[in-house]
Amino acid sequence: MSDCLFCKIVQGTIPARKVFEDEQVVAFHDIQPQAPVHLLVIPKKHIATMNDCEADDAALLGHTLLAAQQVAREAGLADNGYRLVNNCGKDSGQLVFHIHWHILGGEKLAGLNP
Ligand code: IMP
Repeated sequence: MSDCLFCKIVQGTIPARKVFEDEQVVAFHDIQPQAPVHLLVIPKKHIATMNDCEADDAALLGHTLLAAQQVAREAGLADNGYRLVNNCGKDSGQLVFHIHWHILGGEKLAGLNP
């Protein structure tokens, strides 16, 4: 998609600190980290949100999550753990409408429960 920020990162027209890339997935450092380690994992295919995924995307989504597992391990997060977050739509605070997963770790994260 021509006006999508993350598509431009995929194409290399906007720079990013990439930590992983294969034929289907890219992972890079978040520009405004919310934890000591804050990485983003995205499929190269433009899918706007979780709501826009279709049955044909099943293998790509699985591949993206396994890439996230590898990226987290290579970032040194496997032992202590990490949070994998997907924001979907406006109530979640999604800002970039190209599906992505945040990998957050490197410290004890605040709990999600009140
Ligand atoms: P969202 O709220 O789940 O859509 O998160 C989008 C994330 O993209 C935010 O954490 C932003 O800091 C991050 N971000 C925005 N622009 C860039 C960029 O150019 N490079 C890397 N991360 C970015």
